[in-house]
Amino acid sequence: MTTFCVRCGKEGSTYESLCVECFRANNRFTKAPDHVDLVQCYHCKEFMIRGKWQKVTLDEAIRDVARDALEVRRGALVTRVRQEVHPADDYNFHVTMHVYLEHSDLKIEEEDKTIVRLKNGVCTRCSKIMGSYYESIIQIRGRERKLTEAQKERLVSSIQDKVQEAQDENREMFISKLEEVPGGVDAYLSSISLAKAISHDLADKYGAEVKESSTLVTQKEGRDVYRVTFLVRLPSYLRGEVILHKGRPHLVTSITSSKTKLINLKNHEPLLEGNMDLREARVIGKREDVLEAVVLSESAKEVQVMHPRTYATVELRKPQGFKVEGDTVRVLLFEDEMYLLP
Ligand SMILES: [Zn+2]
Ligand SMILES: [Zn+2]
Repeated sequence: MTTFCVRCGKEGSTYESLCVECFRANNRFTKAPDHVDLVQCYHCKEFMIRGKWQKVTLDEAIRDVARDALEVRRGALVTRVRQEVHPADDYNFHVTMHVYLEHSDLKIEEEDKTIVRLKNGVCTRCSKIMGSYYESIIQIRGRERKLTEAQKERLVSSIQDKVQEAQDENREMFISKLEEVPGGVDAYLSSISLAKAISHDLADKYGAEVKESSTLVTQKEGRDVYRVTFLVRLPSYLRGEVILHKGRPHLVTSITSSKTKLINLKNHEPLLEGNMDLREARVIGKREDVLEAVVLSESAKEVQVMHPRTYATVELRKPQGFKVEGDTVRVLLFEDEMYLLP
């Protein structure tokens, strides 16, 4: 069966009832709009492309939105687009597109032009930050005493590192506010799960206790929206300090999220206690309270030292396994008694 072109009558293969020449001459396969808007976040400079905020270069963004704006006739398949971008000024870019298409067994080339206009906007993330958006607060406090400046700095930088790590995976993770308050630091975070992970991480690192509480803030689309606060309470003692526990001085040798290792200074016996059992413990000697005492003589069971304050001679019973190294020993004075430190 022979076919012919309905327009010119030429016999041969036809495309939608037209011969190749008439089909090509009477059809456009692509169309570009006069202009396309490209929205850039004013704050973080990211671009809105295909409904998503993306971190790409201006040139990539212009090419992407111009290409996306191209309308293609049904049945045609774009195989390649070559683009030339010419800035008219800082906000307007002329884009010429050489489009290569296939339609049935035909190869077609067309040229389209559009103007990409750069517009300022604010991405969802920045608008949340600008509006001080937060879902969760981490409150860091010392149990009895105030946190030192060095402690605060260390804690804040641990939080910042963790948030940065999370942000590399998900850009909705951020700190909206960091605030020094009496007794500690408050960190406002964009995500409850992130705040939870960080709180527990701090607990593990510093032997802290975490208390979680939530308040209903509002209802959104029939759903309750909660704000969750994590109270991270650091223990009242630090490693290397001496605490009073069950009426006796103990040296703190290590702290984990649930347990603390101690050495009883009376007999130098090690002890592992749950942090909860040490809530009442009181620090009686900080690191700077540990003194050096000159050793005068030593026997199998005792060591004779000079009192670092009164210079009187004091006899101390040596706890099991205690060894004198050098001409001094480390001691702590507490309630008229002198304790040897391991
Ligand atoms: Zn024809
Ligand atoms: Zn932004």
